[in-house]
Amino acid sequence: MKKGRYGPYGGQYAAETLMYALDELETAYRQAQSDPKFAAEYKRFLREYAGRPSLLYYAERLSNALGFTVLLKREDLNHTGAHKINNVLGQALLAVRMGKKRLIAETGAGQHGVATATAAAYLGLSCDVFMGQEDMRRQSLNVYRMELLGAQVHAVTDGTATLKDATSEALREWSRRVSDTFYVIGSVVGPHPYPEIVRNFQRVIGDEIRSETLERYNRLPTALIACVGGGSNAMGTFYPFIDDKGVRLIASEAAGRGMDTETHAASISGGTVGVFHGMKSIFLQDDEGQIAPVYSISAGLDYPGIGPEHAHLHDIGRAEYLPVTDDEAVDAFEYLSRIEGIIPAIESAHAVALLLKLKDQFKKDDLVVVTVSGRGDKDVEAIGQYRGRLKVGGMQSE
Ligand SMILES: *Cc1c(COP(=O)(O)O)cnc(C)c1O
Repeated sequence: MKKGRYGPYGGQYAAETLMYALDELETAYRQAQSDPKFAAEYKRFLREYAGRPSLLYYAERLSNALGFTVLLKREDLNHTGAHKINNVLGQALLAVRMGKKRLIAETGAGQHGVATATAAAYLGLSCDVFMGQEDMRRQSLNVYRMELLGAQVHAVTDGTATLKDATSEALREWSRRVSDTFYVIGSVVGPHPYPEIVRNFQRVIGDEIRSETLERYNRLPTALIACVGGGSNAMGTFYPFIDDKGVRLIASEAAGRGMDTETHAASISGGTVGVFHGMKSIFLQDDEGQIAPVYSISAGLDYPGIGPEHAHLHDIGRAEYLPVTDDEAVDAFEYLSRIEGIIPAIESAHAVALLLKLKDQFKKDDLVVVTVSGRGDKDVEAIGQYRGRLKVGGMQSE
């Protein structure tokens, strides 16, 4: 296989000025991989700071309602409330090892920016986050959160002033200041070696699921279900099971207002092959290859593409990618809250929705694991508004 390829996908589509930085990163990462001290330090960060291992929770009432066993992998219980911390702590540790004093990141909704700012604060690094001006306006609370954590947030005004423009700016900034700067990518996307690095930092999710189901149930799960934006929590969940052909790998894509509309973010269900953000993969784009504006009720899922390894797993039929609409996700958000007392992130609610949609495909003895990628506190206000229960700025009187 060619470097960083997953079937025809992946690769390194980067400007000449970035090739040096990518090579330096890959060399440092290979050295870190073969250094037990790096693995031990990363593990310590996960345990002492992120709060791992996360619970693999037997959802009894949900299981009884559906007629088979459902386990929830509780990434929502991590410090900062989602799986993103697993990856940013790993990359920040790599940055320290490389002698870089400054982290940069792009962010759309702000979640990856907040996670990166957190890791920078934890390790005493400086942090600059690039964010579209339009996104900064929509997500002002996360802008303040990043500033609170000591990061500087830079408004990007090019193009549509959203995530794809912020991504281009972060890449430009990296090529300007490679010497002291580490570019932290937030999902299994971007030029090689990022998709591999991020997957390897997130595989702790699947590794824990694997050892715990073997220990508690003496077998592997029947199926794993996770949501995909760029695909890091799903890749982390699936990766240790790829060779176990008996384990179904199922991912939910954000279908927004529906696959028959243009307002969705379901790359595999509705996209085509292209090159963007340094990689070949499947993207939502127009006939000229211009990246399309994407939409989902979930800010964490509206990335216009998907990681190259997912595109490959889809091509070879190893994993399934199915669309879930806003309405279905909101129903699942409410359902899980009520039946288990767990308010999931609206991203994660897409995975729960898929569990509910596919329930007739499972039998009594099946063991299905759903990754709850994050907690829903951040979404309560927006869902309340979606249901007409809250007005912008406060509770509606009865
Ligand atoms: C960012 C985010 C996602 C989407 O990112 P992936 O890389 O696809 O995992 C999903 N859930 C939550 C809670 C997130 O914050």
